Formats: sequence, C-alpha cells, structure tokens
Amino acid sequence: MPWFDHNATAPLAPEARAAWLDAADSHWQNPSAPTSASARAHAKLDECRARVAAVFDEHEKQVVVFNSGATEGNNAVLCSEAYKTGSGLAIVSAVEHASVMEPARRHFGDRLIVAPVDARGRLDLAAFEALLRRGGVTFVSVMAANNETGVLQPWMQAARLAASHGAKVHCDATQWLGRLPADSLACLDYVTASGHKFGAPKGVGVLLVRACNRDFHGQFGGSQENGRRAGTEDLAGIAAFTAALESAAAEALPRLAERLAWRDEFEAAMTALMPDVEINGAGAERLWNCVSLKMPRHVSSRWVARLDRRDFQVAVGSACSSSAGKPSSVLAAMGLAEHEARRTLRVSAGRATTRADWVALAEAFAAVAAELDGDSGANLVVPV
Ligand code: PMP
Repeated sequence: MPWFDHNATAPLAPEARAAWLDAADSHWQNPSAPTSASARAHAKLDECRARVAAVFDEHEKQVVVFNSGATEGNNAVLCSEAYKTGSGLAIVSAVEHASVMEPARRHFGDRLIVAPVDARGRLDLAAFEALLRRGGVTFVSVMAANNETGVLQPWMQAARLAASHGAKVHCDATQWLGRLPADSLACLDYVTASGHKFGAPKGVGVLLVRACNRDFHGQFGGSQENGRRAGTEDLAGIAAFTAALESAAAEALPRLAERLAWRDEFEAAMTALMPDVEINGAGAERLWNCVSLKMPRHVSSRWVARLDRRDFQVAVGSACSSSAGKPSSVLAAMGLAEHEARRTLRVSAGRATTRADWVALAEAFAAVAAELDGDSGANLVVPV
C-alpha cells in the first residue's frame, strides 16, 4: 500500500520499533527516581540526548529538550517569548503551521506582524527585512520547510537578518528534520520538530533551546529536562525518536539526489498526463518528498477518494487544514483563489518510498483522471 501522506505522518521505522521495545522492557523506571534502576534509565535518557545533539551537531550552545512534539514546542516557545518580551513585536511568516500561527495570534495579539511570501510560497526576504527595519521586533518565527507545498524557506538568511536586528529566532523544522541535514539548525535560538514525520512514534518530539536561555520553561511543575519541561519523560518514545532520527539523518544527504530525481520524474509524468496541471511552489527549492498539485479539474476530495480505492493515500492540501474544512491559508498566501485551493492535492513520500512507487502513483493518477473525466461532471470545479 504506497503511503503518500508522510507529511501528515509516517509509519514506525523498524529501528524505532526495536529501540522502543528495548527501552520499554529494560528502562521502564522513572528516570528521576533515586534508585539504581532509575539511574540506569536516566543514563539512557542522557545517552539519547547526546545522540540527538550530535545529529544537530550542536556544540553545547544549545540543549535538547524532549517533549510531545512540534505543537507543544511551538506553543511553548511562542508563549514564553510573548510573555518575556513585554511590548516587543513578533514576525511570523504567512505560511506557518497553525501550531505557530494560532499561539502567535493569541499571545502576541496586536504585536504580531505576518510577513508575506512570494507566489512560490517562499518568505519575501525584502519585505521581511523592511519589517525588521521598522524596529521593535524581538522575536521571529520562520519555518524550515512548508508542510503543504514542501517549499524550503530561507530560514538561515531570515535568521541572520533577525539576529542583526537583535531579535530571537525560532524555526519550526518539523518537515525538514529527518529529510534534510540538520546540522545548520544548531545556530538558532529555538528549533522545534516531531518524530512521527520520519519514523518515530507519535507524541514525541524535540525542542532545541540555547543553553544560556535559562528562563525558558515549556511546562512548570517538575525538574525534568533540566527544568525546561516538567513531566515524566516518555523514555521508550525518546529512545525510538533517537534511533529513527539517527538513521533518517544518516541517509538524508547520500540519498538526496536520487530522491529529488524521482520526485522530478513524477512531476514530469503528471505534466505529460495533464499539461494544465500546476505544481504549487514550482521553481522554488522544495523537499524531495513532497509535491503540491493544482489539478486542472475536479475537487481534490474526489481525487483522494478514487486514489484511495486504488490503495494510494494522498492528502487534500494538508491534513490539518482539511480537517478544519477551510481552504488552506498557505495557498491563499501564495495567491491561489479558493477554487484553485479546492483542487489542490498534496502527495508526500517517505524514507521507504521507491522509484517504482512514484511511477505507480503517476499511473494511478492517469487511471483516476480517465474515471473522473468519464463521470457526469458533478463536483467539477472550473475557474470562475
Ligand atoms: N509544524 C509543522 C510544519 C507540521 O507539519 C506539523 C504537523 N502537521 C506540526 C507543526 C505539528 O506537529 P505535531 O502534530 O506532531 O505536534
């Protein structure tokens, strides 16, 4: 069953499963208790922290805080920064995930500025810099890779600009981590991500925070995670996260060219099949695993249902926006009209996806196109 919805979630990786079972059996004790067995659990926790830090190649400037995932991390960062910075302004890009956008609106209120993206969905750096020049900005959040389009954001350039204006920088790296090299992220003030996008179980993630940032507390009520996130650690989940991250990170660079080629072949096949199909974000650097397709006809839910019958799972825009039933704010920020957003599909491959899977997906699209075009025309969405 070719799963093409990895941006929503990925299957458990074998190495993560093995690490999870081992830690659940051997280190089930509370790592914070004063017993020798708990000390061993704590040592395992420390080992995982060091291994994750090594993937980020951080040199003691940042600390690794394990948590339940990017939603928790993003909320914690936004809340902490809004509370700390008093009257400081915040800038977030217009294509941030709801777990950044909503806490940003709630905690910063009218101190929040939303920076525009260009038609390819990439942060407009000139506009971003102009906003910084106005002064008073203490915090910015720019994601690494967009969950709906796969478009890579210029987060490093944005971070340099923000730092030169004295603002702290957060990057939601949820769709980047495990797919592209993570080492350069270690220069930022905050990095957040979830493990289930690259083969760890759901409900475990990571937050990188600067070691000197002593007054960051994601949760209160305990001294776990060096006082930065209270609550008993999910050691088995953390061990699985560590194993999945290490193996995903190890193959990220060596397999990049091949994976990009497969994505490009799929896009070429789709364009040959339907010359008026459009790739959202075309021309921008994008993740190797993700293609956002603006279909020339038929609402996206019809494509999803027909592909599903053929055992191919793809998504309508993004899993998060589809459940809310609202057209995607990401596509709107890129200038797509609502009827175009309603024809948009997202396909997202994973670590185990093969070239044959991509080819089979394009073939399934061809068959479904013939089916849908043969139907009565109900739900046909045409540009107005
Ligand atoms: N940020 C981005 C960019 C995402 O894609 C997601 C998941 N769709 C999240 C944050 C939230 O991740 P989680 O649901 O694992 O907390």
